[in-house]
Amino acid sequence: MRSNLVAGNWKMNGDSASIGKLMANLTAALPAEPGVDIAVFPPSVYIAQVIGGFTGSPVAVGAQNVCEQPGEGAYTGEVSAAMLADVGCRYVIVGHSERRAMYEDSNERVAQKARHALEKGLMPIVCVGETEVQRDSGATLDVIAEQLQSVFAVLSVEDMHSIVVAYEPVWAIGTGKTATPSQAQEVHAFIRALFAKKDEPLAKGLRILYGGSVNAGNAGELFAQADIDGGLVGGASLDAQEFSAICRAA
Ligand code: 13P
Repeated sequence: MRSNLVAGNWKMNGDSASIGKLMANLTAALPAEPGVDIAVFPPSVYIAQVIGGFTGSPVAVGAQNVCEQPGEGAYTGEVSAAMLADVGCRYVIVGHSERRAMYEDSNERVAQKARHALEKGLMPIVCVGETEVQRDSGATLDVIAEQLQSVFAVLSVEDMHSIVVAYEPVWAIGTGKTATPSQAQEVHAFIRALFAKKDEPLAKGLRILYGGSVNAGNAGELFAQADIDGGLVGGASLDAQEFSAICRAA
């Protein structure tokens, strides 16, 4: 049985004071035993603060990105998977559409990031999703298949038991336009079928999150779909009441 995961991607928002407040509000709003896996993804400079603040809490912490290079060295500005694991991260988001669009994260680079994350014991959340133009031209499933192909090329079936996939249609991110539950379910079922071609038990156990304007109002219907195993939440994860309502819906 898959356990649902609700992940809050804080993106490049907040400062030490507002993040401290958000953590306190989340601690107050979330049930002590949420019955669902919960993780938050602060900007990297605040990761240590958040891990410290959530010691003993059911909320796990992850990073929004990781360097595609193994080991350490002359990579100015980058943070390695080993460093994230060292400070206590459990997860890392790779291939978010904002990084694909603005920071040249290619399919191949995303797969390398996932690989190095796994080597250091982190669970990568591999993001995939089509743009509006791609959806309108009927290319959605081809785009998703191509994005995952690089992951299949680099990771073993055993590795893939420790990944999470997030389907985030680019046109639904930060726009208030959510995929309908049936639009999302269609893509999620397609993703699971791709993994089933590699290995049936892998596909059955794979958690596939939906992301794109998830809020307390639409989460329940989305999470009720057979192949949606939780959400990757942006804007709504910055509000403790809203995020905790989304966690309850899962
Ligand atoms: P929004 O929930 O703000 O649409 O963002 C989704 C997202 O990009 C999460 O990674």
